[in-house]
Amino acid sequence: MKHKNVLVIGAGIAGITTALDIADRGITVHLVEKTSSIGGHVQRFCCKAVNNVCTKCGACLLKDKIDKLKISPNIKIYLNSNISDVSKSKDRFSVQIKHGNKTSSVEIDAIVIASGFTPFDAATKGRFGYGRIPYVFTGLDIEECFKENVGVQYFEPLSNKIPKQVAFIQCVGSRDPHLNKGYCSRVCCRYALRLAMMLREAFPEIKVDIFYMDIQSSGKEFNMLYDQCKDDSKIEFIKSIPTRAQEIPETKSVRVLYEDMAESKLAERDYDLLVLSIGIMPSEENQRIESLLGINTDKFGFFEPNVQGVFLSGACEGPKSISESIQHAEKTAVDVMEYL
Ligand SMILES: Cc1cc2nc3c(=O)[nH]c(=O)nc-3n(C[C@H](O)[C@H](O)[C@H](O)COP(=O)(O)OP(=O)(O)OC[C@H]3O[C@@H](n4cnc5c(N)ncnc54)[C@H](O)[C@@H]3O)c2cc1C
Ligand code: SF4
Ligand code: SF4
Repeated sequence: MKHKNVLVIGAGIAGITTALDIADRGITVHLVEKTSSIGGHVQRFCCKAVNNVCTKCGACLLKDKIDKLKISPNIKIYLNSNISDVSKSKDRFSVQIKHGNKTSSVEIDAIVIASGFTPFDAATKGRFGYGRIPYVFTGLDIEECFKENVGVQYFEPLSNKIPKQVAFIQCVGSRDPHLNKGYCSRVCCRYALRLAMMLREAFPEIKVDIFYMDIQSSGKEFNMLYDQCKDDSKIEFIKSIPTRAQEIPETKSVRVLYEDMAESKLAERDYDLLVLSIGIMPSEENQRIESLLGINTDKFGFFEPNVQGVFLSGACEGPKSISESIQHAEKTAVDVMEYL
């Protein structure tokens, strides 16, 4: 049998997983990553263990994959690179990989798109004050802050105090038909609850309010996490999505205005820190990949498989957690091997 070559676009956890599984079977994999590092968004996440107990957030699964990638003889990694042209003749693709001012041409038997997602840009929901009110952050900001081991002290210089009142607003940018984002991002309930518990552990005096429409239950592990939060008297779930947030300069805090459903009236509460639980959007790269490969996108902009020899891996196909992305990536590797 003629030696086969596979192209994987995107070196996030999904692209790495598919690449490793295919390379293990003796196929040469060209793994193309547009940034200068491998790992995608997962590189930015903290360990969300609480009281030294693992909450199965999945962030540490990346390290093992990267270690294997480094020693895999069948994977050629192209960093700071992009696909500049693709043409198909019979069952093969001729692909141009552009890195800096150099271009490599490769002959490819199958292509895997693993270009992931773009986090929702919280600034586009101007009413919550992200980028304008200094006490408003995204879930991703908090992930990065814990990853750097700076915890909530990071926020102290903003208000000269350790935050005592913290709120999360769920579904920011998701489940919003007005933004053509009428889908659930699947991961933000989970990471928000984990971050809430981490804040409670780090600063036992902190009270956390979680504004939500629905909590996306996703199995036994999540229900245990949810029960733990509900049992904590300092975590309150408020079924309402706030209408807006406004800065209160005198107290260096942010006021959240919302509808109190139980009392059917408008209400407000002040917080030292407001966290917006942003979700998963189609990658901003999708349009370019779509025009290069002629692949379809669904009504929200995620990819749908419709081109023979082109496969999807991970969150480029729709919102997924880390473990769901890995499972999808493994299944894609099997599909590619069957195709070859
Ligand atoms: C705020 C936030 C917190 C989260 N926390 C958790 C959590 O705690 N636990 C959990 O299970 N999940 C979490 N998730 C979900 C998690 O981020 C995804 O499951 C995971 O990142 C999906 O991996 P991926 O490889 O499909 O995509 P990505 O991580 O997006 O990786 C895609 C890669 O492709 C590259 N790429 C894109 N386009 C191109 C191109 N044209 N050419 C070359 N390279 C390209 C990108 O640079 C990137 O490296 C969170 C999501 C968000 C938004
Ligand atoms: S799964 Fe998450 S919480 Fe558990 S050890 Fe790994 S990084 Fe930490
Ligand atoms: S996972 Fe939770 S916060 Fe995220 S969109 Fe779904 S319901 Fe909303």
